[in-house]
Amino acid sequence: MPNIEHHTVIIVGGGPAGLPLAVVLGGWHPYFRGSRMFSLRYPQLAAGLQQIQGTLLGLDFKGIARNVPPVDLFRLLHHPRQLFEELAQIAMEFRQETPIDYLLLTQEKVGGLWNNVPKNLLTLSPGQWMEFPFYPLALHSEEHGIDLNVNDLIIKGDLLRYYHTVPDRFGQTDRIHTGEKVVRIEPHERGFLVTSKDVGTETIHQYTAKYLVYAVGQRCILRRLDVPGEDLPFVAKSYDRPEDFPGERVIVVGGGRSADWAATELYDVGKQVYYVMRQPFENHWRLVSDSRYGLPYYARIAEIMESRDPRFQTLYQSHIRKIEEGGSTGLVTIDNQGEEQVIEVDHVILEIGGSADYSLFEGFEPLRQIEKYDNYRFQLHQVMTHPHNYEAVNIPNLYMGGYLASGIGLVVIAMHGTTYAIAGDILQKEGLINS
Ligand SMILES: Cc1cc2nc3c(=O)[nH]c(=O)nc-3n(C[C@H](O)[C@H](O)[C@H](O)COP(=O)(O)OP(=O)(O)OC[C@H]3O[C@@H](n4cnc5c(N)ncnc54)[C@H](O)[C@@H]3O)c2cc1C
Repeated sequence: MPNIEHHTVIIVGGGPAGLPLAVVLGGWHPYFRGSRMFSLRYPQLAAGLQQIQGTLLGLDFKGIARNVPPVDLFRLLHHPRQLFEELAQIAMEFRQETPIDYLLLTQEKVGGLWNNVPKNLLTLSPGQWMEFPFYPLALHSEEHGIDLNVNDLIIKGDLLRYYHTVPDRFGQTDRIHTGEKVVRIEPHERGFLVTSKDVGTETIHQYTAKYLVYAVGQRCILRRLDVPGEDLPFVAKSYDRPEDFPGERVIVVGGGRSADWAATELYDVGKQVYYVMRQPFENHWRLVSDSRYGLPYYARIAEIMESRDPRFQTLYQSHIRKIEEGGSTGLVTIDNQGEEQVIEVDHVILEIGGSADYSLFEGFEPLRQIEKYDNYRFQLHQVMTHPHNYEAVNIPNLYMGGYLASGIGLVVIAMHGTTYAIAGDILQKEGLINS
């Protein structure tokens, strides 16, 4: 067995939810500085926060949560308006203080699922909504000589470059272990016992921690179709870029945003696309038409669908039944609203989403979960947490980062909002700051 290393806090997951916690626990604490826009829009909050001498991590989060959820408070401080005009509009500043002893473990590079989304994928929201307040995208672009309009949607590559810069920019590289997958979390007399494996070498590590922040995102376990032939070589478990799919005909299975993206991009490079989904036309079309005026790629898929070009065939309320090899191509049997149909294709692309993985917890009371979904295909099981600190209601000192905490509903600009209440709660419990 490896030596067991102890840390005050362990964060699991280095995505947009876990990464900012590393920086804040690493000593970068927010202070209220106010801004013209914040005072204009939220004069009462501004007047109250003006009285706070110390860091905002010392706020009475329990008291505040009765009026405004901490994620919303910090979102308003960060984005007092939706448009970015100037750095001075952000109503807080970050000052470097003493760090607390923490370690972040994440199985891929920092930046979370953005490491694996399609190469050309654009965000749903302006680039600056994906930034952390301690490092505005405008500042990052300035520092790196990047020509970027931060109010435009941002492409995967630019967003990842931003996230990848964060550990070094804020001096946290030594406390962040990438390529390390946590495989088990158990109770321990010191709090939590965390077992991890290096991705690739499988070397085992063990740690104990007094506090654990679970920020693994909503996509740990990729869904499966559970049909014969799913693992044949021409069945791709995700989509990256059109060049990966030579040949003419593809089936895209999904119906969410990633599948919409893949189907559109493959059609636009000239493929024959069969787009298979379980949902009825009305549900899919509602989202496409709601999004077409704000998002250029939804304008494009709407246009393709309206063109009724036979090169783009949508199969609604349809289920893949089996996938077989048929000579040099694949044969896919589909139940299309009760009628069986066999389609011959070169590739099948599965973009059927994933789910959060809570199976790593062993020996605890079961986490209490609630199902969360909205019309924009946001769908996951969240853990019941206290509204003021995002601590699991039945496991003390276990915090849920980002969308895994109950009540976090905004699909955009919310994923890093849990940072401050979690960090503040830990620092207050440790007596390192006073509320
Ligand atoms: C295709 C897609 C597009 C999206 N577009 C947008 C958008 O435009 N705007 C927006 O605001 N949100 C968007 N979202 C929502 C998205 O969830 C957030 O952008 C964000 O990535 C969530 O951050 P997170 O840190 O909670 O999770 P993730 O980004 O998933 O990061 C979690 C990290 O933890 C790692 N991890 C998981 N399990 C373990 C383990 N056992 N051990 C170690 N590491 C582990 C994961 O590999 C991952 O790196 C999108 C989601 C998807 C799926």
